[in-house]
Amino acid sequence: MQIYMDNAATTPMSDAAVNAMLDCMKNNYGNPSSIHKTGQAARRAIEGSREAVARLIGADKKEVYFTSGGTEADNWAILAAAETGAKKGKKHIISTRFEHHAALHRLERLERQGFEISLLEVHSDGLVRPDELESAIREDTALVTVMYANNEIGTVQPIAELGAVCRSRGVVFHTDAVQAVGQVPIDVNAQNIDMLSLSAHKFHGPKGVGALYCRAGVPLPVFIEGGAQERGRRGGTENVPAIAGMAAALEEACRNMENKAKTVTAMRDRLIDAFAAVPHSRLNGHREKRLPGIASFCFEGVEGEAVLLMLDHAGISASSGSACTSGSLEPSHVLLALGLPHEIAHGSLRLSLSGYNTPEEIEKVIEVLPPIIGRLREISPVWEKIKNGGPN
Ligand SMILES: *Cc1c(COP(=O)(O)O)cnc(C)c1O
Repeated sequence: MQIYMDNAATTPMSDAAVNAMLDCMKNNYGNPSSIHKTGQAARRAIEGSREAVARLIGADKKEVYFTSGGTEADNWAILAAAETGAKKGKKHIISTRFEHHAALHRLERLERQGFEISLLEVHSDGLVRPDELESAIREDTALVTVMYANNEIGTVQPIAELGAVCRSRGVVFHTDAVQAVGQVPIDVNAQNIDMLSLSAHKFHGPKGVGALYCRAGVPLPVFIEGGAQERGRRGGTENVPAIAGMAAALEEACRNMENKAKTVTAMRDRLIDAFAAVPHSRLNGHREKRLPGIASFCFEGVEGEAVLLMLDHAGISASSGSACTSGSLEPSHVLLALGLPHEIAHGSLRLSLSGYNTPEEIEKVIEVLPPIIGRLREISPVWEKIKNGGPN
């Protein structure tokens, strides 16, 4: 059996989510917009799920809109704030250099369309500084969007502080919380969040479904024209089973969250401690201010892709960074944003855990990985030079 350590890319579904979906598919097939009993049963499934998702992030159910996932929620939030801002002559948006491409590519397109985008430094520890956000905000700032936790290195931003800065300056604050929801406690009110993106398949729910939280009073223009679904803002018949599966998965993820996080953190720290002993290696991002499950390393003198292939062969599924960038030869924009040189960023490995991993699996990786690094370094044309005092 393959050991799965790529939970930042996607997670296996929980039994609770599968059962909720199966039940819905078999027994609750109505169109939620139909007024007959069959339709109203589906409507109840949708609204019950909305209530659950809202409650689990500290929101009201009127503030939760279902989407096709994290990418759509990010696009919607950014476009909504851009459209609203532009009407008031505000065409400046602040984000960070290491956002997910769902946000970054949308921002790049807005830039080509006449918006001005400022990207905050994330420094070598992978963290945004609230005072730097404060100084970047201008009279014409329409939106600040900062990801809650980074999907490649796992660092968790000081979200409540960043939100407080935005609140005090009257700027809308959006966070891509796709990696954080279901892993760490979230309260949109206590954390001063105006908009938040989440995605079910990152917390043991189904793929192709997510949600956008938008605080009451924050303008949210229509995103998809059509029917009256999602309060008239996103037309199209709802994916009832997926929505029910997402709510079930989130309920489960938030149950006993603290204990599960402790277990996962202990496994993560065991990996971090073990690989600190590999010479010319580094942990990417702040040691403690990170998600329970994500650890990203750079090993000098090796190619991340080669490490991945050999790990795969040894029965371990991992990633060199983001699933969305693999397949390209460019090093990850996240690692470059930390200030790592290209040649080091190429040797990256991300191990992302979930509560489904076991300490035995961790020990297996600790046994298998160092010899793989050693073998690859033996055949590396640059390793001799690095070992004898080259870059580190
Ligand atoms: C996975 C991910 C997304 C994209 O979510 P999808 O549901 O796959 O579209 C966006 N942001 C972050 C931080 C992610 O990890």
